[in-house]
Amino acid sequence: MRRPFIAANWKMNTTVDEAVSLVNQMLQELNGFNSVDRVLCPPFISLQAVGNMLKRTEIGLGAQNMYFKEKGAFTGEVSPLMLKDLCGYVILGHSERRQYFAETDALINQKIKAALTAGLIPIFCIGESLEQNEAGKTGDVLSVQVKGGLAGVDADDGIVIAYEPIWAIGTGRAATGIKADSTIGFIRDTLGSIWGKDRADSTRILYGGSVTGANIEEFIKQPQIDGALVGGASLKAAEFVSIVRQTALVKS
Ligand code: PEP
Repeated sequence: MRRPFIAANWKMNTTVDEAVSLVNQMLQELNGFNSVDRVLCPPFISLQAVGNMLKRTEIGLGAQNMYFKEKGAFTGEVSPLMLKDLCGYVILGHSERRQYFAETDALINQKIKAALTAGLIPIFCIGESLEQNEAGKTGDVLSVQVKGGLAGVDADDGIVIAYEPIWAIGTGRAATGIKADSTIGFIRDTLGSIWGKDRADSTRILYGGSVTGANIEEFIKQPQIDGALVGGASLKAAEFVSIVRQTALVKS
């Protein structure tokens, strides 16, 4: 019912040449798994070059951030209209944006709306810190992030949600499949409270946080988990292909 979805977040890694080389290493194999939605999110500077390489494939392309204004005096920012010509997706609300660039739920909400208006599909990230997790506040935190980020957003817009516990990102300390599944079930219930059960049931929710070729199966076999947002492991061609291959096998 929900098509599996695997996205690669390369973060602030790869020059244009390195990005092209990485795509070259994975393209042929990646192209074979059309039962999985695959999206590569390189740095802005490589969107055009990577986009050219993906042209005759069904592999999607995404940016890692954007500002919510269409244009104007916002030095250093990139607008939804600029991205729309280059890619179909945009990661918004990543914990690194929240942590290092002080992005709030209200700002992320403006970005999500602007992305949708421009025809971009947001990959909307949420997740709790270790302290919040240990204090038993995960549900409260996620509920505030979901409701704040999606205020006034229509259920039909095709948005993809990524649950990424901050303590699991880049740490090698992934959540367990069972725990991630139950938290994602909670997120789906929260979506149901704002969009209704049917829309919540058709929304794709990914897990992210130290996903590798060695642990993807544990996540992807869970009923609530529709795929993964992959950081570090997506910079290794063979490992990213393995993550997509296993997803195609488990979810088919
Ligand atoms: C991410 O950056 O979204 C992420 C999940 O990173 P990693 O896979 O490296 O933990």
